[in-house]
Amino acid sequence: MGSLRRRSAGRHRVGPSLALRAAATAPAPPPAPATVLVRPEVVRAIAAATVAAGEDETGGPLLGTVQRSWEGGETGFIVAVLGTVMPGSSLEAGRSFVALGAEGERAASALRWWRSTTGLDLRHLGDWHRHLGSPEPSAGDRFTGRRMAAESGAPVWLTAISVGARARDEAMRADGHVARFAGAWSARDEVRFYRSRGRSGPVRIGVRLEPLAIPRLPPLPWHVAEPARFAAECRLLAAAGLTPSVETRHPGGRAGLTLRLRRDGERPRTIVTGPGYPHEPPALLDAAGRPVPLGTRWTPARFLVDLVREAS
Ligand SMILES: [Zn+2]
Repeated sequence: MGSLRRRSAGRHRVGPSLALRAAATAPAPPPAPATVLVRPEVVRAIAAATVAAGEDETGGPLLGTVQRSWEGGETGFIVAVLGTVMPGSSLEAGRSFVALGAEGERAASALRWWRSTTGLDLRHLGDWHRHLGSPEPSAGDRFTGRRMAAESGAPVWLTAISVGARARDEAMRADGHVARFAGAWSARDEVRFYRSRGRSGPVRIGVRLEPLAIPRLPPLPWHVAEPARFAAECRLLAAAGLTPSVETRHPGGRAGLTLRLRRDGERPRTIVTGPGYPHEPPALLDAAGRPVPLGTRWTPARFLVDLVREAS
């Protein structure tokens, strides 16, 4: 770890010792070639999160698949970046960063759900974060990229750096390692991709935006995207004497969550939430499956238990 840090610092020092230092360091073997395909909506999500963050730090994981490919006797990799986890509004202001580490409950929960629903061998391929200035990796990014490449054991570790200030839903094109918005290009609206492997990198890597040939991941249901909210909902229901169980079938097949609620001496009731919960109102159904009319307007500050209380 210490030697990596020293080497990383050495690269940035400009002076007469640079040539000697370079000669004394054994060159890293060239990494196997990798073709990186990126779902366009991943770049859109990163750009949207960058705009939403304002001046704050933001970032998240790059999730996808890696396959080996043999080209003319040479082994390469086809890397498909299929998804990311958007920083949640519930996170601490000033630092909405989704990581897969100790605080990575949301990303880990999303990765598990996507693996089980798609059957894809999804992996953590790298991370993205925003820069307020230059889109080049900082000394810290170089150190982190090499460390993560070594620790993850993955053949490819990607670092994507987002710079931009505007939310635009326009056609995008990939130009080498830069995915940018074609309609309104400026140096301020882009996501750049870099690759680290072992002790080399991060170096620029060309990406291809691929809307057709690689799978699109389904949207995350809210209880997967917001596990802390889901845990709070369950705690509050349990405190009210209700036993919630998750229904596997969701009416309409949308990515929401249906909960069956049981309480001693009462007929079971059902709560149906849509994918936009808590920003879209839930519905309470009686034992016969009929909607229970409720008078109070729904707001995201309310919880499911409030709905049950109101109907009791
Ligand atoms: Zn950085």
